[in-house]
Amino acid sequence: MRKESPDTGIPKYLIPRVTPEATEFFAGTVRGELRVQRCADCGQHHHYPRVLCPHCGSEHLEWVTANGLGTVHSFTVIRQHGIPPFKEQAPYLVALVDLDEAGARFLAQLPNVAPEDARIGMRVRATFRPASDEVAFVDFDPADPSGVAAP
Ligand SMILES: [Zn+2]
Repeated sequence: MRKESPDTGIPKYLIPRVTPEATEFFAGTVRGELRVQRCADCGQHHHYPRVLCPHCGSEHLEWVTANGLGTVHSFTVIRQHGIPPFKEQAPYLVALVDLDEAGARFLAQLPNVAPEDARIGMRVRATFRPASDEVAFVDFDPADPSGVAAP
């Protein structure tokens, strides 16, 4: 049975159900750690959690704690959304972030970056937003507080 959410203001319908594959990932988010899987055969990392390496198909996966830093691969600006709480947040950024751990890519919000300031190549750092006792959402903030894109 799902535990009650703390008073985060996050609607329960947005809180992911923790699957067996993702238990370690979400436990890490609650501790403020970005846990990703690394393939013991090809050495590549990946996210979301899976039972097979998406790079080579190996079953030999291990969990590592990422350093939390990444680079914006691409992004989009969501300018309209009909469902709360996103409706109130628009316009907002959703980005693909390549972690420093090769092979791992996140889809996440950049809640503290203005749409006009977003850049491909921008260095970002993971932050954790509690959603329930079992889950925290991963967002990314500029790694450099000035938000200046990497050269
Ligand atoms: Zn592999």
